[in-house]
Amino acid sequence: MKSSEINYTILSTFIAVHGATAWALWKTGFEYSYLGWAIGIYAIRWLGFTCAVHRYFAHRVCRTSRAFQFVMGLWATLTMARCPIKFASGHRHHHLHSDTSRDLHSPAKKGILYAYIGWVISKNYDEDRLGRVGDLKRYPELTVLNRFYYLPNVLLLVALYAIGEMPAFAYGGLLSTLLVWHVAFSVTVVFHCIGAPRYETYDESKNSLILGLLTFGEGWHNNHHANMASCRMGEYWYELDVGYLVFLVLEKLGLVWDVNKSVGSRIYRPVEDDTKETCVQIPIFDDAQEADRFAA
Ligand SMILES: [Zn+2]
Ligand SMILES: [Zn+2]
Repeated sequence: MKSSEINYTILSTFIAVHGATAWALWKTGFEYSYLGWAIGIYAIRWLGFTCAVHRYFAHRVCRTSRAFQFVMGLWATLTMARCPIKFASGHRHHHLHSDTSRDLHSPAKKGILYAYIGWVISKNYDEDRLGRVGDLKRYPELTVLNRFYYLPNVLLLVALYAIGEMPAFAYGGLLSTLLVWHVAFSVTVVFHCIGAPRYETYDESKNSLILGLLTFGEGWHNNHHANMASCRMGEYWYELDVGYLVFLVLEKLGLVWDVNKSVGSRIYRPVEDDTKETCVQIPIFDDAQEADRFAA
């Protein structure tokens, strides 16, 4: 990776958060009960990743009100994954060009290290360059959240310190941030390397039982690549998909509706050549009328 390709703002943020976490953990010490903070806040944040960041904002798997869309936007920012717009842009690009030379994080094409962290700190990962997020950019409140994604996280840190002092701050606030980051980086690599595919998706995506359980459903990644507009990643009872269950609860509460619950492959246009660049049914939401179908 050339140094001119590196986004130094992102890189220095990573280094600063890792340094601050190491300092806070050292200062706080260790007790088993502190892990409760890390696991509890991690669970809230990772559910935000799979439900809000990935399924709702990147794939628009349901409709909702504009008010609840904003709530999901706030939940998305808590993952510290540059949300809700930037991740959606990069992720739609991933589905469109999966495991081709244009994919941002294909381990097969770019190598493990670049697929893990290189793409995140690359200037190529940029929503203005990658596009395909016209449906999200038309909501000013989402662009504000996308720009100031760190502010809700600062408030979370302050609240955690007020409630549980240093153990909550260090383990719940900072360590859980690193957990979400490194799980997210790992899954971009692992989901395209380890496991077995159920469907022919013209890429390297795999299903993985263990990761499916650990990531609240994200591990059924080949199912997801085969039918990316569906909210449902696990297709059978034994493919536990907690993220999908959350949407069923939200639907019961009337907060979301028209949830796409389809199963089975929707890949309908295998490429006629070997470039594999346009083989999938990627939803491209640059058209305002199309976007109107989602948040009213
Ligand atoms: Zn993938
Ligand atoms: Zn996806």
